[in-house]
Amino acid sequence: MLRVISGLKADASVAEAQRLMVQTFRLGGIESPDADARLLLGHALRLDRAQLLAQSDRLLEAREVACVQALAARRINREPVSRILGRKEFWSLTLHVSDAVLVPRPETETIVEQTLDRMARDSRQGDPLRILDIGTGSGALLLALLSEFKNATGVGTDISMAAIEVARGNAERNKLDGRARFVCCSLADGLSGPFDLVVSNPPYIARAEIATLDPEVRDYDPVLALDGGADGLDFYRAIAREADRLLVPGGHLVVELGAGQEAAVSSLFETVGLKVAPAQPDLAGIPRALGAQKG
Ligand code: GLN
Repeated sequence: MLRVISGLKADASVAEAQRLMVQTFRLGGIESPDADARLLLGHALRLDRAQLLAQSDRLLEAREVACVQALAARRINREPVSRILGRKEFWSLTLHVSDAVLVPRPETETIVEQTLDRMARDSRQGDPLRILDIGTGSGALLLALLSEFKNATGVGTDISMAAIEVARGNAERNKLDGRARFVCCSLADGLSGPFDLVVSNPPYIARAEIATLDPEVRDYDPVLALDGGADGLDFYRAIAREADRLLVPGGHLVVELGAGQEAAVSSLFETVGLKVAPAQPDLAGIPRALGAQKG
């Protein structure tokens, strides 16, 4: 049996197991030891936060200890909690994730906010909008937008068929499958649109930088979802080339940016005639959601 949590044996209490797990994570350099231990212990024992507290004196059986040890070993190997649980919350939706998709990030919610903001000032906001999400992965952006715009329909594309299957499952579980369609293709190949809204969180890490990322990202997110080419900008160039064809007049394009990419991507979009606004910062203050409009 794996024993990354030293001192944890059968007949330890729930509270003791939690304390030892937090200690193991702290010593292992895990960033949020308390939250991670609570989530993983709860997952192993099938208990939510309140039940963990209410049952803190209950003693663990040997098979439960084995399960807790196995989950802790995965986290010590830097597998993200959301991958171990197989799900992640995004914009009030619960999304399943597999090793074929990027785990949706909190900063990506800035793209949803920026899109809502733009539509709040647009005369078409209650209309049956048509939305395109390029590189949909788990379906995060498209599904969040469909949950907000009740009259909208949308298409999510991804080069990975395994990702498309994850996105379809997420649409069904969130009862958005009646308005969402998923297509396995590169960018928007074969789609004619035009769309009122085009969103994307494309791969934007410069290839040489992938090796320097946190192990949680480098070793677990699919490289296809990270690799933006030599300078990280390949997908923005491709999206810029397609924007005019894909958007209705007055339609909006909103993309996620990597740190430091605002100037370069703004100029790519301006070059193809889009009206670009300053990027909206995420909660860390990094310019994150770049919006542009077709004239
Ligand atoms: N659109 C998905 C997300 O925002 C996937 C993005 C990606 O794989 N680069 O989570």
